[in-house]
Amino acid sequence: MTVKVAIDLALDRLFDYEVPESLERKLAIGQLLSVPFGHRVARGFAMAIGGDRRQSAASESYRLKPIEAIVDETPFFTPELLELVKRVAAYVVAPIESVLRAALPAAVQKRNARAREQLFVEVATADGSRQPSTVAVDAHLTSRQRWLVEQVARLGGGWLTPLCRELKTTPSSLRALEGLGFLAIAPRARRRDPLMGSRILPSKPLPLNAEQSAALATIRAAARPVLLFGVTGSGKTEVYLQAIAAELDAGRGAIVMVPEIALTPQTVRRFASRFGDRVAVLHSALSDGERYDEWHRIRSGAARVVVGPRSAVWAPVRNLGLIVVDEEHETSYKQEELPRYHARDIAVLRGAVEGAKVVLGSATPSLESWMNAKRGKYVAAMMRGRAGAGTLPTVRLVQMESGAIFSRELLDATRLRLERGEQTILFLNRRGYSSAYLCTACGTPVSCDACALPYTYHRADSCLRCHICGGWTPLPRKCPHCGAEGFDCRGIGTQRAEAALRKCFPRARILRMDADSVSRRHSHDDILSAFRRHEADVLLGTQMIAKGLDFPNVTLVGVLNADSSLNLPDPRAAERTFQLLAQVSGRAGRAELPGEVIIQSHDIASPVLNAVMRGDFEGFAASELKVREACFFPPFCHLAVIGFRSRDARLVGSWAMMYAASVAKYAAALAARRGARLVVGDAGPSALEKADGWYRWQIVLRATEVSSIAKAWRWIAAERPPPAALRVAVDIDAYNVI
Ligand code: ADP
Ligand code: ZN
Repeated sequence: MTVKVAIDLALDRLFDYEVPESLERKLAIGQLLSVPFGHRVARGFAMAIGGDRRQSAASESYRLKPIEAIVDETPFFTPELLELVKRVAAYVVAPIESVLRAALPAAVQKRNARAREQLFVEVATADGSRQPSTVAVDAHLTSRQRWLVEQVARLGGGWLTPLCRELKTTPSSLRALEGLGFLAIAPRARRRDPLMGSRILPSKPLPLNAEQSAALATIRAAARPVLLFGVTGSGKTEVYLQAIAAELDAGRGAIVMVPEIALTPQTVRRFASRFGDRVAVLHSALSDGERYDEWHRIRSGAARVVVGPRSAVWAPVRNLGLIVVDEEHETSYKQEELPRYHARDIAVLRGAVEGAKVVLGSATPSLESWMNAKRGKYVAAMMRGRAGAGTLPTVRLVQMESGAIFSRELLDATRLRLERGEQTILFLNRRGYSSAYLCTACGTPVSCDACALPYTYHRADSCLRCHICGGWTPLPRKCPHCGAEGFDCRGIGTQRAEAALRKCFPRARILRMDADSVSRRHSHDDILSAFRRHEADVLLGTQMIAKGLDFPNVTLVGVLNADSSLNLPDPRAAERTFQLLAQVSGRAGRAELPGEVIIQSHDIASPVLNAVMRGDFEGFAASELKVREACFFPPFCHLAVIGFRSRDARLVGSWAMMYAASVAKYAAALAARRGARLVVGDAGPSALEKADGWYRWQIVLRATEVSSIAKAWRWIAAERPPPAALRVAVDIDAYNVI
């Protein structure tokens, strides 16, 4: 018998080994093995078990090395998960070992990883049964000793250290009782519980309203993934909970994915209070020990419901019945390092591989999912009304005057809150390192005609570049829109906004939250808790404050410059702006106090902003999809970025240009043969041209079929392998194009 093994060395191929007869019956797919590799011993996973070599004459000409040992007989991967790993590796064009590594927490793979053992004390019984002890009749014990044994019996045993504390005794006193045969003290695996210390009250299912019942029925019946489109507060979580309960009743398990930033104790508590011990939590703040224990609780079947961020999509849940992806539009589901997978897409794939239901929930679905629902690939379930208390805030769009940071309307509204003792959040989306080139008079960015996207200003060679088609243009003299002369590429920063605000309201207590204030002075949580305790009247910050916050006393949210997010040179800029503003608007007036949202913009006719104001996702999606189709942008194409990095500026530029030219030729040949569309942009420096001494260039590929991109990439990578001083990587279905 032979076995194919994936070895953890990023070699992107499987190696064949002989299986010694003694191990043949124990070997299973998904097990961790140790195998000889060169002059050392390596570890790897059993990917496939081959036939009996002794019967094959052809293979007798060479001899395979035998595997050394099976490290753990319980497989780390089920056959279904291995199948998923293989498909994902093929899709994202990543080495299979990199996907295996992403799919298994490092804490579980570590050589010294194991369950924590601690001493457990219980009453000893002669035959090992749990009969009540016969302490009372034994005269040899002091009354104190008798009392101790009775207490241990009453408590049903306990961990040595906390037990000593509780009974006000010492380990040696208990050891003495062990010596007399009354107690048994032995090591036992003790779970490191991430929720330990928080008392969680059980919750009961709420009676569902009509929209929730219909959504639940759709989920229960659907043979395809369900897009649960429900406005903020429509009660999506209650629907998830009841869908999961139904799976548990049928003996199946569930995975719930939430964006990392939303993985707060409140979120976890909602699941834990419904399902108790059956919930396992996986998030980045877990210690290695906690992660190890949670993972093993999932694999053993002790935990049937997993709550976690994108990596939870790999959880080894047995008999998986349901995967929920909450806030499915969130970009944190995309992993930006190797393997660059999107957890929402893997959830859909896993559902298909394992026959599990998939629910994608959002108040502002991604246009990818929305189009899949429109085309019947997904089933749509709608919830348009709020389930609980609270009304939606009123949203106003206000014209920004050139040069001014605050409009009269926003200042008046803020003053009113200060007088009433209510709180205000002011939101300023920063452009980061990418800057558009804006007319100071009308605020319009100079844009690439072909791609209908703003150019990015590149200081180094003083020109404007498009990061999609790779086109560039010299700096214009006059605004192509209004004819005025004078451009700005800086925009307003949070510090400038703070200074202006202090001038207007010298006595207001203002907190600023951005990357600078967070890293230097306080933590993210410090600032938010101070604001929650009402130690400040105004919280001014970047997109950091947009999500997962719920402040009862906030009745005004101001968006200082909605254009800064709309003007990003990213095909998804409008979609992101809609999502962001819808989310920000949800922050105001969630409690009894009615809320108000004021959005400032240079262009109050903007269809995107007007859709936000009306709360009209469907109208926005319909018009935005037309733009995407006309420009050949996702979801009408697969967009991939080939990124080049080197410390040598000339190397990175010349290779990027050579790759672009070669891939373009390949694309032309491919189109001639198969009629598939593959558009290859010109090579050009990334928006962040140089970072930490690394020069960065990129090429954007767009194709109707993802396989054309994968083929082109494999072809060029094999044809022209880059030199060691150059790093080249491909990001399939890229979300970060600047
Ligand atoms: P979403 O996840 O869609 O934003 P939530 O699940 O957080 O909405 O629900 C919003 C509020 O409505 C919560 O306080 C929740 O307890 C309440 N709620 C949800 N469903 C019901 C229901 N059927 N009856 C009463 N209250 C509900
Ligand atoms: Zn362009």
